[in-house]
Amino acid sequence: MYDFLIVGAGLYGAVCARELQDAGKKVIVIDKRSHIGGNIFTEKIEGINVHKYGAHIFHTNDKDVWSYVQRFATFNRFTNSPVANYKGQLYSLPFNMYTFNQMWGIVTPQEAENKIAEQRREISEEPRNLEEQAISLVGRDIYERLIKGYTEKQWGRSCKELPSFIIKRLPVRFTFDNNYFNALYQGIPVGGYTKMVESMLEGIEVRLGIDYLKERLEFDRHVESVIYTGPIDAYYGYSLGTLEYRSVFFENEIYDCPNYQGNAVVNYTDEETPWTRIIEHKWFEFGKDELGNDLPKTVISREYSLEWKPGSEPYYPINDLKNSTLYNKYKALSEKEKKVYFGGRLGEYKYYDMDQIIASAKARVKNLL
Ligand code: UDP
Repeated sequence: MYDFLIVGAGLYGAVCARELQDAGKKVIVIDKRSHIGGNIFTEKIEGINVHKYGAHIFHTNDKDVWSYVQRFATFNRFTNSPVANYKGQLYSLPFNMYTFNQMWGIVTPQEAENKIAEQRREISEEPRNLEEQAISLVGRDIYERLIKGYTEKQWGRSCKELPSFIIKRLPVRFTFDNNYFNALYQGIPVGGYTKMVESMLEGIEVRLGIDYLKERLEFDRHVESVIYTGPIDAYYGYSLGTLEYRSVFFENEIYDCPNYQGNAVVNYTDEETPWTRIIEHKWFEFGKDELGNDLPKTVISREYSLEWKPGSEPYYPINDLKNSTLYNKYKALSEKEKKVYFGGRLGEYKYYDMDQIIASAKARVKNLL
């Protein structure tokens, strides 16, 4: 008999497992995939830790979370500074003085503020959607070149139909600072995320290649409680309807050259380019192997965004009104469960970042003990 079955060996599941086991509980972790790590899984190819399910850059303002992850990995000093490519023209991200200079040729913060103030005048009321929010933050020029095409590709929906909070994730700065995140702490675990999750799961029983929803009856007989980190609607057999997700797929290439694009992340912000961004994985670790040697080859991933369909991998919950309403119905059902707890991006249908996942997993376990 186990005290806890944890369904999903991603970050949420791994933190719950670690905390519960350390508190003396008997824990088992299962995952339907053949590897641990969920979507932060990395795999070494040509000496490069490839982020197989998309770029993950750890960043947080939470001191406790930052010191917690140090137990499981050494973090390097990577700072995310993506470049936007709009029809061959390059712009710095996030929106800052470099971007404003490249967009308008202006030089001082006052000039940038004036320009944006002038362009934001078309939005007179409280922004009701992502388009209005974006124009009110940075003006129409930046919206048209750096936001509209990228966002509509990524979400497969018009910016007029998307919630404004999504664009508020990005900083707007009137300083020369290309750091994509407003976070006190940032970095990539040296040796990859898989190694970090392995370290979290050390000494814990993990079984891979098991689809809980197919083998639920068998497992439930041997466990007191379940922490379920899969999609909440799948848990209930989609009985109230299907939640929508965005999925992504990657075209990976190995090139026999040391430097393909000179940066870890380049976003393609026009409408026509079919991919949203290209990741060149070696730059997450400065193009070097563990011994500090330059790597001769490179691995890139072109990232395409698409609507999730049953059978494919869900990545992003779509927190619009329709889906949030449906999620709340599932949540109400889940609150009636006596021995099943839902957590993580899919279990809570929430656009969580990694640090928030860790904080919420730790809070959950504290609650359970
Ligand atoms: N975004 C954009 N242009 C960019 C990068 C991001 O318009 O070049 C918008 C887009 O709507 C995206 C949101 O900002 O969904 C949040 O971006 P973030 O990088 O946080 O997304 P993630 O890395 O989670 O995919």
